Amino acid sequence: MRKALLCALAALCLAGAAPKKPKLVLTIVVDQFRYDYLTRFRNEYSGGLARLLTQGAVFTNAGYIHVPAITAVGHSTILTGATPSMSGIVGNDWYDRDEAARVSSVSDAKTQLLGGSGPGSSPNRLLVSTLGDELKMAGGGKPRVIGVSLKDRAAILPSGHMADGAFWFDPKTGNFVSSSYYYKELPPWVQQFNAPRPADKYRGVTWLGHKLPEDNARLFAALEATPFGNDLIEAFTEQALAAEQLGTRESTDLLTVSFSSNDYVGHSYGPDSPEVRETALATDRQLEKLFQAVERQVGAGNYLVVFTADHGVAPVPEVNVARKMPGGRIDGAVIRAAVQGALVKKYGAGDWVTATFDLALYLNQPLIAQKKLDLAEVEREAARAIQALPHVSRVYTLREMTQGGGVRDAVSQKVANGFHWRRGPDVELIPDPYWMVGTGKGTGHATPYGYDTHVPVIFMGPGIRPGQYHASIAVNDIAPTLATILEIETPSGSIGRVLTEMLVD
Ligand SMILES: [Zn+2]
Repeated sequence: MRKALLCALAALCLAGAAPKKPKLVLTIVVDQFRYDYLTRFRNEYSGGLARLLTQGAVFTNAGYIHVPAITAVGHSTILTGATPSMSGIVGNDWYDRDEAARVSSVSDAKTQLLGGSGPGSSPNRLLVSTLGDELKMAGGGKPRVIGVSLKDRAAILPSGHMADGAFWFDPKTGNFVSSSYYYKELPPWVQQFNAPRPADKYRGVTWLGHKLPEDNARLFAALEATPFGNDLIEAFTEQALAAEQLGTRESTDLLTVSFSSNDYVGHSYGPDSPEVRETALATDRQLEKLFQAVERQVGAGNYLVVFTADHGVAPVPEVNVARKMPGGRIDGAVIRAAVQGALVKKYGAGDWVTATFDLALYLNQPLIAQKKLDLAEVEREAARAIQALPHVSRVYTLREMTQGGGVRDAVSQKVANGFHWRRGPDVELIPDPYWMVGTGKGTGHATPYGYDTHVPVIFMGPGIRPGQYHASIAVNDIAPTLATILEIETPSGSIGRVLTEMLVD
């Protein structure tokens, strides 16, 4: 009787026991989902996002601590806890000086695409372990680790080196594909998913006045920029869940899902558009559908959800200017021409700029060596040329980035965190707030400013104390926190702290 009374409040009993480990960790990344999408549309959410906001531990001031704030870098941070300075993932693409070629964060010429044609992709450029790798190593390979997205980098980088499989969408064929890095051939359940051509049904469909193309050659890329792309991800994830029987064995499994359509929509229409709002509301519904599928298979209370984003986004410059806010576009070709012109003037003819990406500029180091010039001096000259352009806030040279030079503030720290000695650029620029590098329409993200780096972080599940947590945290804190909950080794490059404030003790 007394015991019954004592245990009458189940919550109190549970609080005394060590929290049981979840059967499944479900990591959800929404590609380009600013923190304020949670608050601006809060009253319109009634599905998975509403559930996360009411039942989860919601970190209201989570941010990225690196530059550039872009997809590969964000996705490589979430489950490694590492900064690019350690993970080696310094961009979506960069110039590899050893290979003397532009490479992507996951390009791997030694692999083949499965389910499509051409080279595949792999996590071989990721230098550190992920949570999934640590799970695998701790569990003797038994835990299942699966990654899903529309984008290869967003499926591969969160799941890691030892993942059983990573799957993404091939806009050439409309198939979900993988790489020979993981399998000899595409698993039968993936072939079964592709067989009825699920992407074909969006041919000619209209969404918010945008009519999708009738021909497959253009349809598959176009549907990525509608919520239909996320519908495909959700459906594929349910298939993966069932086929791989995730969360039904003794060990904890890991499923990472990155919803990409929000990013394509956001780039095209901007954060203040009806399209972004509609896509966020669709995400709310898609997440609820996924949570229900997970619950049916794994059981309520047996899975842990982590929800976050890989970066935010800037307002469309023209929208900002119209509302009396700063903003504008800097032409990347102008930056390149300014550097090329200044170096020709000072050092003579030559192709001085090898490559540019977002905020990064790679100089022609072989030419500099051939002319027996001092690299640091040439970099300073290039930096001076960029600094002279309007709306450039800062310019960092390689030497400054490696030696902690420049203004000693949070921006410089983010630049240093984003810099990797072998892969980093010679010069990196930071535009003024609300200014972006690039011409054309739409908007982008990359800078250290709040709109690009402030993202949601929500944990929900067993052992998590729901509520709002307002202290500033870094996205890097997710990985070591999960490692602590799962009682496994912290990923090798993690610099995060454990979010003890939300853990039920
Ligand atoms: Zn992204």
